[in-house]
Parts: sequence; structure tokens; C-alpha cells
Amino acid sequence: MKILVLNCGSSSLKYQLIDSETENVLAKGLCERIGIDGMLKHEPVGKDKFVSNDPLPDHSTAVKAVMDALVDPEHGVIGSTLEIGAVGHRVVHGGEYFANSVLITEEVKDALRKCIDLAPLHNPANIIGIEACEKLMPGVPQVAVFDTAFHQTMPEKAYLYALPYEYYEKYKVRKYGFHGTSHRYVSQECAKLIGKPIEELKIVTCHLGNGASICAVRKGISVDTSMGFTPLDGLAMGTRSGSVDPAAILYLMRKENLTIDQMDHILNKESGVLGISGVSSDFRDIEAAEGEGNERATSALDLFAYRVAKTIGEYVTAMKGVDAIVFTAGLGENSATMRQVICDYLRYLGIELDSYNNSQRGKAIEITTRQSRVQVFVIPTNEELVIARDTREIVEGLKK
Ligand code: ADP
Repeated sequence: MKILVLNCGSSSLKYQLIDSETENVLAKGLCERIGIDGMLKHEPVGKDKFVSNDPLPDHSTAVKAVMDALVDPEHGVIGSTLEIGAVGHRVVHGGEYFANSVLITEEVKDALRKCIDLAPLHNPANIIGIEACEKLMPGVPQVAVFDTAFHQTMPEKAYLYALPYEYYEKYKVRKYGFHGTSHRYVSQECAKLIGKPIEELKIVTCHLGNGASICAVRKGISVDTSMGFTPLDGLAMGTRSGSVDPAAILYLMRKENLTIDQMDHILNKESGVLGISGVSSDFRDIEAAEGEGNERATSALDLFAYRVAKTIGEYVTAMKGVDAIVFTAGLGENSATMRQVICDYLRYLGIELDSYNNSQRGKAIEITTRQSRVQVFVIPTNEELVIARDTREIVEGLKK
């Protein structure tokens, strides 16, 4: 079955068409600037790339543009959209409603609408994407795969905030956690590499990209994670502050007369390693600036690594031990220096890096020596593949 995987953001749409039997990607691409002007970048495997600047006034037009690109005689990869057997959607927030991926029904859409308050930028785009597919591919089953679902197994002591309990009851203010699809995938791949059932393992997974989060995975389930009610909490990130004393935020708002929206923008877009370094949100730029002697770049990288290492330590405590640590996502997969600095903090766990393996790129690999008491791995994440697998499983279950 060919599965279209869609990731609808507020003004973008990423897609992959995956053959679920071979798990090969047939085409992938990206619509950007939806609602502004519009740009489609389409990359069919084995054919030339294609870029279009046709206007994309809304997500429906963007989904239609993707379908047209997929069947185009020149750069298409299928003869007809009827070949698409199912659509898998990445949905950011499933609240407390969804602990697993689900077939999209009217009830599911109602629940997604109830989660809009929790993810006002993301969930509306997801719902529009789902409805656009319903219109363009009537009858084709659609599945929602949630960023939050994997973390629904966290115990109450991990997800409750020490705020008046009524705010949890009234507004469901609690820790949800994000990047769940990635943490689930890399922890399962890690168990395969170790060659033991995941039920016997304690794994800390570090998803370090523009957004960054860490997860404690015990016996294959998430028991704690560093993002919270929103993806702003926890580690310092590209432009997001991560955890800050809440009183510091109130203080700044009073001092600078900031509105809620202005503070929101500062915390989400002007903080993190960009805010500290003043250089960039991209770790490659910051590492380069450090190389040229920029002290604030060094401060940003130091702070980032320190907080990652400290959070790993917390999760070792949460699980009362650790068998393996996994690095994934843009920075986690690519920066040998960052991994080295983080692992230096963790020598007390008996971690010994293998510097040759740590310098390798682009494949799943163990980066510790045989003597290391905890195994450390780099495992490239693949959220689209997980979405395609979940979609296939749910759709095949319908036929039984
Ligand atoms: P997201 O999906 O959250 O946007 P990614 O997982 O693609 O992010 O990670 C993007 C980040 O990864 C970039 O901001 C960049 O800082 C970092 N990155 C990518 N390649 C490298 C590299 N070779 N060295 C250091 N950092 C890198």
C-alpha cells in the first residue's frame, strides 16, 4: 500500500509518499508560505526535483498541489491518486484523549478540536489538512499519529505541576511532552541494536534538533520527558528558552511593560542558544562562531550541553539506572563535539566514548567502547516511517 504522510504546520506542509511494503520513500517535499504566497518543492526519487511558485492561499490548495505533483506525468511517481491507500497525519497535540495512533473519525476530529486550546498554532492546521484530504480523497482512510501519545504513560508524579490542582481539573494544565514519535522509534531501534527485549531496558533518548527534548524510556514506555504543557519547557533550544524561573518572566514583563504576546514571542523565538549567543539558532553557525573565538557562542554551547547532561542525570534517577543513551535529530545525529561534551559529564556513569565511532555520520551506531558501563548510540530518527507503519497497521486492522 502507498501511504501519504502529511505534516501540516501553520504555514507549511511536509509530505512523503511511502511504499509501506518496501518502506521506500517514493517522493517527498514541502509546501511553504501557505496563506502568504506559496512555494512547493517536490523531490521524486529517481527523477528531477521540481519547484513551483503557484499561489497556495490555504492548506486545501497545498494538499491539491501535492497530489498534482505526485501524479504529474513528468515528475510524478504514481499514475493516479487512487493508488494512495491511506493518509497518515502527524498531529501535535492529542491532549489526554489519545495514548495511541487512531483512525480518524468524526469523534476523533471533535477531540482534536477540543485540543486546539492546547496547541493553537498546530492543531488547527492539522484539522484543515485532514479535511482537505477528506475532500480530495473521499473514502481513503486517514490516521492521526500524535507527538504527545507516547508520553501518556507518564505517572502522575511526573506530569502534575505543583500548581493548585483545580487548574489541572479545569484546564488540563499538566506536562504532556512532545517528540513522542521520535522517542518511541529510537528507543525501539536501540533495543534492537542491543539485542534485548525493550521490556528489559532503561533508555534515555535525547532528541536534539531545533526543538530539543529528552525522554526516560523504561520497559519501552515513557516515564518522564523534558517538554511540558507546551514544547517550550525543558532544555534550551534553537530559539526557545526551555525552563526558566516563572517569576523571572513575571519580573521581565513588569520591568519592560511587555504584553503576553510579546513575552510569548521572546520565550519562543528570541531565546535559547540564539538569545545567549546573539549569533544564530543554528548550532552549525554557533560552533563556527566559537571556532572564531566568540565567547557568547561558547556560553550558549556550554549551557546547552550542561542542561542536556543534567537532564540525563535526572532521568537516570527517575528510572533508578540506565542501560543506554541515544542521541538523535539534527544536532544529536551530526555534532560529534556536542555528544563528546555531554558524555564527558556522564563519565561518572562509567561511560567511555569510542572517538572513531563518535566521528561517524549518517547511520545507527554505538559510540561507546566495549568497556563502557552504559552503551551510547547515535540513531537517525524517522518520524515519517513510524507514521506510515502505524497507518498501515491501523488500516490493515480494518480489513480483518
Ligand atoms: P527540527 O526538525 O527540530 O527543525 P532538526 O532535527 O532538523 O530540527 O535539527 C536542526 C538543527 O540541527 C539545526 O538547527 C542545526 O543546528 C543542527 N545541525 C544539523 N546538522 C548539524 C551539524 N553538522 N553540526 C551541528 N549541528 C547540526
